[in-house]
Amino acid sequence: MTVDRCAWVRDAIRLLEADANRNADTHLHVFPLPAEWGIDLYLKDESVHPTGSLKHRLARSLILYGLVNGRIDEATTLVEASSGSTAVSEAYFARMLGLDFVTVIPRGTSREKIELIQFYGGRCHVVDDPATMYDEAQRLADEAGGHYLDQFTFAERATDWRGNNNIAESVFEQLAAERHPVPSWIVVGAGTGGTSATFGRYVRYRRHPTRIAVVDPENSAYTAAWRTGRLDHTTGVPSRIEGIGRPRVEPSFVPGVIDEVLPIPDAASLAAIRLLKDRTLHWAGGSTGTNLVGAFRLIARMIRAGEHGSVVTLICDGGARYARTYYDDAWVAEQGFDLAPHRERMERFLSTGEWS
Ligand SMILES: *Cc1c(COP(=O)(O)O)cnc(C)c1O
Repeated sequence: MTVDRCAWVRDAIRLLEADANRNADTHLHVFPLPAEWGIDLYLKDESVHPTGSLKHRLARSLILYGLVNGRIDEATTLVEASSGSTAVSEAYFARMLGLDFVTVIPRGTSREKIELIQFYGGRCHVVDDPATMYDEAQRLADEAGGHYLDQFTFAERATDWRGNNNIAESVFEQLAAERHPVPSWIVVGAGTGGTSATFGRYVRYRRHPTRIAVVDPENSAYTAAWRTGRLDHTTGVPSRIEGIGRPRVEPSFVPGVIDEVLPIPDAASLAAIRLLKDRTLHWAGGSTGTNLVGAFRLIARMIRAGEHGSVVTLICDGGARYARTYYDDAWVAEQGFDLAPHRERMERFLSTGEWS
């Protein structure tokens, strides 16, 4: 690498740090629960990042990891296999660094998503068979002399689990003045598995008794894989809750740091985001609903056991991206979802503390 290229890499790292430095930390909201329960529920709002989701952290980490490993210079095309929030956030950072960004997406990806990726200057490369996305991304990177960011492989290692203002350290600092500053549970979904790995490693490293629950949607391989220990388990069916649940166990899923996996019905997740909107005015994506249902179930368990404490979960992204799907009654009915019984169970829980 020439002296000039070293200077470019140094400046690229500065630009990533500067983005973090300009942005305030994301809020830790309180979800209102009856005071007499002695239990506090918090929502870490990752929808307020500049690119609208927790993937803002991942994209920054993946690109930083490529830079410090000498894999990215000023002529490198960045490549990903993602039709979702990861591609949106990576396109944002690629443009910030003046790099080309191309993402491999399956045919049928919604127009809104493609437009969002293009809005940040990213290009989309369409494949017919979703199973070929990863090989195609590698091929594109090899051909262009580019770098395949590969979220599903590198998410767990690109984020510094010891701290460095990762999401876990941020949550614990924000809880410092609360009555229960060390949460009993942290509840997250798993897409890459990177977020659960970061929280799980951090609480072990800091010797906190906090347990990590992963909430898992229908059609995901993670629940059975975690229960049986068989990491080659596949379902072959994509999840309907965007961002979480995978048809195969991704390399970034670290089962050993997860204390419990809770399977959550998709209709319950969608009922939960509507409840969240009615009760708090926060408008979130589907995976936030999965989180909320899991948190409610664990809180009901704490109440039964006479435990006091706190529970933390995430708002993973905002609801605007899903106005024509999860928040559209016609779309919900078309999918065959019946939200009413799930809504009733949650309303009953919030007034009685019982999960039936
Ligand atoms: C990626 C994602 C998740 C899961 O995070 P991972 O760290 O990849 O496991 C949850 N919700 C949304 C909306 C996501 O985009």
